[in-house]
Amino acid sequence: MGERNKRVLMELLQLPQNQTCADCNTQGPDWASIGSNGLGVFICVTCSGIHRQLGTHISRVRSCRLDQWPDEAVEIMKEKGNDLVNAEMEKHMPPYYSKPSPCDPQMYKEHFIYAKYQLKEFNGEGGGGGGGNPLHYENKTKEGKLYKRGKQDKQFRERRFFLNAEDGTLRYFVKDGAKEPKQVIQLHLLNISLAPDKIEHPHGMQLSFLTADNTTRHIYLYADDAKVAVDWYVAIRAATFNLYRKRDPSLSSEQIIHRLNYNQGKQGWISKTGPKHTEPYRKRWFTLIHRRLQYFASPLDAYPKGEIFLGSISEGYSVRDGLPSGQTEDGYGITIITPEREYLLCCQDKQDQKSWIEEIKKVISKPLSANDSQGSRRGGRVFRTLNFIRNQAPNLLHR
Ligand SMILES: [Zn+2]
Repeated sequence: MGERNKRVLMELLQLPQNQTCADCNTQGPDWASIGSNGLGVFICVTCSGIHRQLGTHISRVRSCRLDQWPDEAVEIMKEKGNDLVNAEMEKHMPPYYSKPSPCDPQMYKEHFIYAKYQLKEFNGEGGGGGGGNPLHYENKTKEGKLYKRGKQDKQFRERRFFLNAEDGTLRYFVKDGAKEPKQVIQLHLLNISLAPDKIEHPHGMQLSFLTADNTTRHIYLYADDAKVAVDWYVAIRAATFNLYRKRDPSLSSEQIIHRLNYNQGKQGWISKTGPKHTEPYRKRWFTLIHRRLQYFASPLDAYPKGEIFLGSISEGYSVRDGLPSGQTEDGYGITIITPEREYLLCCQDKQDQKSWIEEIKKVISKPLSANDSQGSRRGGRVFRTLNFIRNQAPNLLHR
């Protein structure tokens, strides 16, 4: 390509507005997507693959470094660029739809790029949301088939799901045409997350919620394609967002989003010994969600084997690198100290140990909020009202 064009492109990539991918904020994009109707954005290599799938009637994808650039294409990039195009194409993005970040799963990026450029959902033209009217995610009801993993036999089977934004529930039915749902989940007690790695399916999702007896239940799902999966994900977020807004009109969008963005947090394998500290180490799948460090026999178990509640430093919670002297280690030790007992955990590698300690420190260094703890202690059992899944629920005691 002409040296001059190449130089201009490199200069454009240096502009602050072009230093991150227009669609997922990855640093240092060096691809571009150019469309006939005013599209000209710099994107990362991952997003460039998704743009290519949109088809040439929407845009053409070029590498800034490797491809030939005609003068007109360089002119479009000069004229447009990430801030101008995004200001237009994301003008009416609803608060419950958060823009992808670099580490979001592929299906979320695909959904976003398709919604933004092909369906034009966020610029007021498409998606039933003309001029900022509610998008289809906010429909009163939504119904469809998803594949749910059986608790006993662990096989995925088709189930009918029904979201009712009016009464704030999500139901699922085992049999087609069944009147009685197998489960009714209250949206304010539900968290939905995209979990392709965990489910080992590119369109995998996880529902976590509190049941009537205050245990945490997990449901594992996948959908046929990225659009179906993420449409459900966004519709549930939208319904929950509107539910909060209806219940407490004084909450700001940011406050509601903060609650919605509760996520699956950190997770991974850690070995754990029992309360006497002489029991053999067992490998457990740990998840850290807000102040709940839960452990499971296997990643897809519906119920945790136990839980460590993480209070704050001022309440006597702390975490240390290594185990108390004299204790056998099974890898790289972590000691978690709570007012009730010490937990001895071991990670398989040093990096993992370091990142778990950092995450736990982050949690315990924060003071407990009113939602975390309206705590009362009765008969030695600790009852706390947690902000788990954005609502109050008595703490599960570790088993
Ligand atoms: Zn990107």
